[in-house]
Amino acid sequence: MLTLEKSHKLFDKAARSLVGGVNSPVRSFKGVGADMLFAQKARGAYVWDADGNKYIDYIMSWGGLILGHAHKPVAGAAIEAIKNGSSFGLATDQEIGLAGLVKEHYPSVDKVRFVASGTEACMTAVRLARAFTRRPKIIKFDGCYHGHFDSLLVKSGSGNLTLGIPSGEGILPAYARDTVSIPFNDIELFKKTLEENKEKVACVIVEPVLCNTGVILPKEGFLKALVDVARQNKVIVIFDEVVTGFRLSLKGAQGLWGVVPDLTCFGKIIGGGFPVGAVGGRQDIMDLLAPVGPVYQAGTFSGNPVSIAAGIKALEILASDKAFYKDLEKKTARLVAIIRKEALANGIALTVNTIGSVFSVFFTDREVMSYADTLGADKARYVRFFALLCQEGVLFPPSAFEACFVSQAHSDSAIEKTGAAVQKIFRIIRRT
Ligand SMILES: *Cc1c(COP(=O)(O)O)cnc(C)c1O
Repeated sequence: MLTLEKSHKLFDKAARSLVGGVNSPVRSFKGVGADMLFAQKARGAYVWDADGNKYIDYIMSWGGLILGHAHKPVAGAAIEAIKNGSSFGLATDQEIGLAGLVKEHYPSVDKVRFVASGTEACMTAVRLARAFTRRPKIIKFDGCYHGHFDSLLVKSGSGNLTLGIPSGEGILPAYARDTVSIPFNDIELFKKTLEENKEKVACVIVEPVLCNTGVILPKEGFLKALVDVARQNKVIVIFDEVVTGFRLSLKGAQGLWGVVPDLTCFGKIIGGGFPVGAVGGRQDIMDLLAPVGPVYQAGTFSGNPVSIAAGIKALEILASDKAFYKDLEKKTARLVAIIRKEALANGIALTVNTIGSVFSVFFTDREVMSYADTLGADKARYVRFFALLCQEGVLFPPSAFEACFVSQAHSDSAIEKTGAAVQKIFRIIRRT
């Protein structure tokens, strides 16, 4: 059995000064009914909790750490940056550099605005779309998570879904009214929704691959059709590539499927593990932002020099290694193959959705193509699976609705060890 004495003590202490002991809800482990862990340190593919237990980590800061924890060159770039000042409130040369890297790999992006989080990126993108079209409504998809901005917290994934409060409270009815959330992967319904809201829809925002309701892939042709239909209706297309950007490929989901959104939201990987977000896209839309245009957006930590330095280093490494994404994909496919094989061998109903270096497991024998499908999976079984994995030194996300992330630092032996743990656990689960 794991000893979690120190984490328990820290929780008692934390709960007195931090709401629920955390600063982001999924970290509470409420979604898996388990005692939360406090992280002490992390290196490569591993994280250690406060009691010194070591885990192979598949949370990886929710996808930001594609090179692994405490990656030396990335950390080094951040440390060098700090020596020259941690925040100026002035523009820097380095911001031009990171914007250049984003533009280089995302031809849909003419201009970039850096912010401090993915939430801000999505919020700004929606504001821009409303200003550009002078229309009020937003279409999003059930289970997509676009940060915790009011207009986008309707049938949202991630922590909302984990905690069973998919829209949350405290949101003005007006915000919810102007957000239409519909099932993913249903192009006819999208058309119908546009028809019903004719000339009222400013934008459609989508995670091109859902990564906050587990992993859900777009059906063949869905993204292309989405973009085409939106264009015909003069609706701005926003791709939320906060997770998928520089994750599914150097060119993100849009490069993979060859589709061109009007605006793209970035975050996570582009900060090399430091706080960041960015919105980028068509010049005529982006130039509506102040100081050029009338759409206001600002931030003390926008384009923070430490995040920018770490981001540049990370993206340079990703771009310089031609085999990077292929290697990562191979490793992930290896692990997924083991998990599927062991499920089959033990008669466990399991669907694993995967692309590139992300995957998620759903305890169901059905295919999972939408938010509604995820709700049909056996959550209690995931809870058990999660707890047993922890015992084996493997940390999956503390939620049945979040994705697992593989990094470059996950060695073949870490993958094999994870596979062996899954085998052992499935043999236990099958009997009970
Ligand atoms: C994480 C995430 C966000 C929010 O980013 P934060 O930096 O946590 O605010 C937005 N969209 C997607 C798809 C995400 O995964």
